Amino acid sequence: MTPEVTVGVLALQGDVREHMQRLRELSVTAVAVTSPQQLGDINGLVLPGGESTTMSILARREGFLDPLREYRSAGGPCFGSCAGLIMLADELIDGRPDQQTIGGLSISVRRNAFGRQVDSFETIVEMPALGPDPYPAVFIRAPWVETVAENVEILAINDKTGAIIAVRQESVLAVSFHPELTDDLRLHRYFVDIITEQM
Ligand code: GLN
Repeated sequence: MTPEVTVGVLALQGDVREHMQRLRELSVTAVAVTSPQQLGDINGLVLPGGESTTMSILARREGFLDPLREYRSAGGPCFGSCAGLIMLADELIDGRPDQQTIGGLSISVRRNAFGRQVDSFETIVEMPALGPDPYPAVFIRAPWVETVAENVEILAINDKTGAIIAVRQESVLAVSFHPELTDDLRLHRYFVDIITEQM
């Protein structure tokens, strides 16, 4: 039996509602995390897509940066999509000069690597960790993963560019695209499985 899982969605900015909806479709309790105290009451945290520069400013202003870093260094499971991937990266290329990330994922990420808003696209990606069927992926001013440390597992590569677009390092999962904008629930389920393995 799956244990009761509560997943928080960092609600500073971005696709909060969409992630909560996907989690609820999996019968997981989803809560919008609007204050750092809530980080103590969740089993996993989603960092949504949106705009990482704005998220960084709001995280600092709302006193979230250190609590998020502590949550992560205590091994708290995280799932970042697009801007959320940027927030989790230890190293950021093409960020704003004062842009801060939470870190915790031993990768370098290039912001807006696939181009501008007009270069947004939808495609399918092979992701063997999710099974044999390809996964539909929506890319919106997406980052890519430029380098990974040895202990980071590469889950998917964009076949056109050869860029790394999905990674996992222990209990951290991060993707360049927006799983919250499709109705394929496999990536959210994969994250919930990461959480339950740890419980
Ligand atoms: N380009 C955005 C950023 O830097 C990410 C885009 C997205 O999350 N759709 O945060």
